[in-house]
Amino acid sequence: MGGFAWVTLATNDSYSLGALVLAHSLRRVGTKHELVVMVTPGVTEVMREKLSGVFNLVQEVNVLDSKDEANLALLARPELGITFTKLHCWRLTQYDKCVFIDADALVIRNCDELFEREELSAAPDVGWPDCFNSGVFVFKPSQQTFASITAFAASKGSFDGGDQGLLNMYFSDWAHKDISKHLPFIYNMCSTATYSYLPAFKQFGDDVRIIHFIGITKPWLQYFDTLTGVVQPPPGSGHLQPLLQIWWNIFCENVHSQLSPVMASSTLA
Ligand code: UDP
Ligand code: MN
Repeated sequence: MGGFAWVTLATNDSYSLGALVLAHSLRRVGTKHELVVMVTPGVTEVMREKLSGVFNLVQEVNVLDSKDEANLALLARPELGITFTKLHCWRLTQYDKCVFIDADALVIRNCDELFEREELSAAPDVGWPDCFNSGVFVFKPSQQTFASITAFAASKGSFDGGDQGLLNMYFSDWAHKDISKHLPFIYNMCSTATYSYLPAFKQFGDDVRIIHFIGITKPWLQYFDTLTGVVQPPPGSGHLQPLLQIWWNIFCENVHSQLSPVMASSTLA
């Protein structure tokens, strides 16, 4: 018991592909820590077997839904209610400390130093930098904290209907209290920054440690040419090509070869 773990979440087989690439990316950079994926009943048995090939623990959890349809409708992202399921990560009390990381993220350099940080450490969100982005955060598992956040969620809801709004309301002093809880942006480089602030991306892009494919441009949904091995970014997002290509290279080398023929063909269809 004890020790540190990276934790992610997948509620279906497509996000599981993201989780598989994320896990292999962590192995490739030689992390010393365990890998945990939380899955809900929407993940198939075959996919769970693949996940257990690279994750130390495949933990079944139930779906927590914010049921806050009005807010989610405002965001035009009705599927995000499901991200409340993330809260189960606080129940992994067999670990002393963890880093949660979204399944649509990719670790390109070793970041084990993140475990030196305290709860709740996270990087600023690109849309509103006084909020943290909940795609990467350091936390300490605790049944008490889990109970406290879910009680808070039930009474206060979430200002954006998803886990990010909720966690920013719960850890509301993040913006101004303790700068050591502000992770540098290179630990959660949101892919949209490549065009919202291209000169900064050109200047600092080489330092990036974690790429996070926020929004609808998920790597596994892009057109991939199986003959050339080149991924085609969506129209107008050419600058994302090199980042999407890193994801697809890991997918081809470590994940696709391990999938069953049926799963592989439906993935690349
Ligand atoms: N997630 C999931 N199934 C879903 C939606 C989200 O498993 O249908 C998980 C997954 O780990 C994902 C995270 O919740 O990375 C947050 O959602 P997403 O990354 O799509 O949000 P964004 O980063 O685009 O705001
Ligand atoms: Mn994400």
